[in-house]
Amino acid sequence: MKNCAIVGINWGDEGKGRMVDLLTEDYDVVIRYQGGGNAGHTVVNDYGKFALHLLPSGIFHPGVVNILGNGVALDAENLWNEIETVRGKGVAVSPENLMISDRASLLLPWHRQLDALEEARLASHKYGSTKQGIAPFYSDKYQKKTVLAGELFYPEHLRAHLTELLKWKNLILTGVYGAEPCSLEQLMAWVECYGEKIKPYIRDVNSYLRSASAAGKNMLFEAQLGSLRDLDYGIYPYTTSSNALAAYAPVGSGLPNAKLDEIVGVVKAYSTCVGEGPFVCEWFSKDADLLREAGGEYGAKTGRPRRVGPLDLVATRYGVQVQGATALALTKLDVLSYMQAIPVCTQYELAGKSTDAFPFPAALEQAKPVYETLEGWGCDISGIRRWEDLPAATRRYVDFAEEYVGCPIRYVSVGPERDAIILR
Ligand code: GDP
Repeated sequence: MKNCAIVGINWGDEGKGRMVDLLTEDYDVVIRYQGGGNAGHTVVNDYGKFALHLLPSGIFHPGVVNILGNGVALDAENLWNEIETVRGKGVAVSPENLMISDRASLLLPWHRQLDALEEARLASHKYGSTKQGIAPFYSDKYQKKTVLAGELFYPEHLRAHLTELLKWKNLILTGVYGAEPCSLEQLMAWVECYGEKIKPYIRDVNSYLRSASAAGKNMLFEAQLGSLRDLDYGIYPYTTSSNALAAYAPVGSGLPNAKLDEIVGVVKAYSTCVGEGPFVCEWFSKDADLLREAGGEYGAKTGRPRRVGPLDLVATRYGVQVQGATALALTKLDVLSYMQAIPVCTQYELAGKSTDAFPFPAALEQAKPVYETLEGWGCDISGIRRWEDLPAATRRYVDFAEEYVGCPIRYVSVGPERDAIILR
């Protein structure tokens, strides 16, 4: 039996989806343990190109059981749309290969509504939410004001529970935001529509995982976003509202006593970030446009242009440390091929001093990047499949990053396709 988590080391969008899609072959069960429809994993394979938001990336592999654990924000409407999309491309989805924890909380329509209302209230101080309802959802979950997926099997109880929640929620909608109240009929119609669709997939995931674990099944825990967006260890308040760290995988998946044998951290060969918050290595104007175009850096969920810049090794090493990564995958190295010389950030300048320690969030706004410049390789590397065939300058770039962050780079990705990978 082997347990492995695949996590993001940076701000998200590192290419976790393609790594899970690649590594799933060795695993029997793939589990999403946090987050919701607010970020997207892009997977390119024989079925086509997909932006998965909720479905685990193992859904494309026959025989793999995919699980949405209790830690996810269960957006039944988006999940159903995603199921329909992948089915439309010939992927089989059934209760045999998709299971939803009965302890996952339901993201309700008012969460999306409140997300948009709060971002509008914040105006120029907004967090840059994707407006998928994630922050209102998790605050409600921790206030014990959502319903669990398993409550769909107790209709009378569910109706009474929602009636109580509705009274409280309408006070907020109308009193705080001056919005229209929600009616019980509207809410029940939504719950009956999407609740019925996902019901066949809902089960006691904890007991399933316990027996899968006892049977020696290999499990892959798939995270969303990255270290710097983790609620507790990221760039608060510009974080997400859940824990994107590997440490949360056992709790959020449904197997709280799971031990992780391996933690594969995914690092992008340069920096990107969606939304607001301090982003020390940000490039602007022409340099940024060139890198954004070369990497196709537009949000998988929103289509928003991503903020881009050189590889930030200060943030990356911190990301590796908080994840406890045992190996790294460096993705999108092919994107840098157009550069003659490649800057990488090895220090921050803060209050007149240089530091290689990642600062407290409030100090991050003042940090300025200090770059070292590495030689570019100036040729297309996307067709290369062996480490020794890479240009010497490319290998030096990878070695430099590896030595700085102190964790082996086991995979080097040179294209979005499943086989565009170099194993070291
Ligand atoms: P995730 O949320 O971490 O899975 O990342 P995204 O899906 O948002 O971003 C990764 C994007 O880069 C997707 O469009 C992938 O198909 C693409 N991608 C992943 N690895 C590589 C790579 O090595 N080279 C190139 N050119 N594209 C890649």
